[in-house]
Amino acid sequence: MTIEILPARLANQIAAGEVVERPASVVKELVENSLDAGATAIKIDIEKGGAKRIRISDNGCGIAKEELTLALSRHATSKIKNLTDLEAICSLGFRGEALASISSVARLTLTSKTAEQENAWQACAQGRDMDVVVQPAAHTKGTTIDVVDLFFNTPARRKFLRTEKTEFSHIEEVIKRIALARFDVAFTLTHNHKTIRQYRVANSDSQKAKRVAQVCGQAFIEHAIKVDCQHDGLHLSGWIAQPSFSRNQNDLCYSYVNGRMMRDKLINHAIRQSYQEMLPSDGYPAFVLFLELNAREVDVNVHPAKHEVRFHQGRYVHDFIYSVCHRALIQTLAMDTDEATD
Ligand code: ADP
Ligand code: MG
Repeated sequence: MTIEILPARLANQIAAGEVVERPASVVKELVENSLDAGATAIKIDIEKGGAKRIRISDNGCGIAKEELTLALSRHATSKIKNLTDLEAICSLGFRGEALASISSVARLTLTSKTAEQENAWQACAQGRDMDVVVQPAAHTKGTTIDVVDLFFNTPARRKFLRTEKTEFSHIEEVIKRIALARFDVAFTLTHNHKTIRQYRVANSDSQKAKRVAQVCGQAFIEHAIKVDCQHDGLHLSGWIAQPSFSRNQNDLCYSYVNGRMMRDKLINHAIRQSYQEMLPSDGYPAFVLFLELNAREVDVNVHPAKHEVRFHQGRYVHDFIYSVCHRALIQTLAMDTDEATD
């Protein structure tokens, strides 16, 4: 046997195995890129559950013509430069893997224009070594990434795609999660040319509550207790539902750490515990919670999909979340009891 370096496309396809599980993971990576680019309006167009087309357009900073090729190469990122940056991540992306991975398992075209450029340019990566072809195009300031025929060249993966409806529901969930994290950004989601979700920029408290109601339902916001507490470098804010609004599944559990959506055991455990006996044993709490802390206090480089984190002081974070939520719940219950006895 001889040792050989893998062709670029194959190496990227192997990496894609970690990042690109299904259409929804493509959507997540691309929308996060738009957010990192400072976009204030993002349009997500899906066809056939994402298997046929995923197209994301933003009005962010754009990518300069000279950097289009780099953007599509692996380990190429504008977001970190050294280990110090890696230890205090402020952007959603940093691995420089997404575009290279996605373009190795789909037909990807990247069209972009920066504010300084007069014209837009378009790039796509082809062939075994993913040679990039760049040509002039039409586009306003910002970026559009068009991903067509996902997994067309990896049949084993394509086989694992579920029905159009199921794949789209995963995409919708990603958009809901991101929409809750960024009230300052407008999102439009279409499926097969039909508008499915539209979120306008929400600045005021009432506009934010309206967006939460759009995502989580009117009943959630009507039963929600607002929390907002800061202590010693930790800040927890958002909404938790009264115990009476318990769910029989964990479909309304939205937590964020420094604006990044999470599926974190420690956070979920702390919240669950704060409800204690107030919930039925098979009930789930409903919440939308944002935890902010110094980026140095948390490691996001734990999992390729980045939905797990490691806190340097896990116990401390856990107890903080627990006590803020518990206090809020107890206060509401006390108020309800007062009202009942009045
Ligand atoms: P990462 O996000 O980890 O840096 P990606 O492969 O997702 O890696 O993107 C590579 C680079 O391409 C980014 O660092 C960024 O400079 C650029 N880029 C990607 N998408 C956009 C976008 N929508 N707007 C502007 N720049 C982008
Ligand atoms: Mg990225």
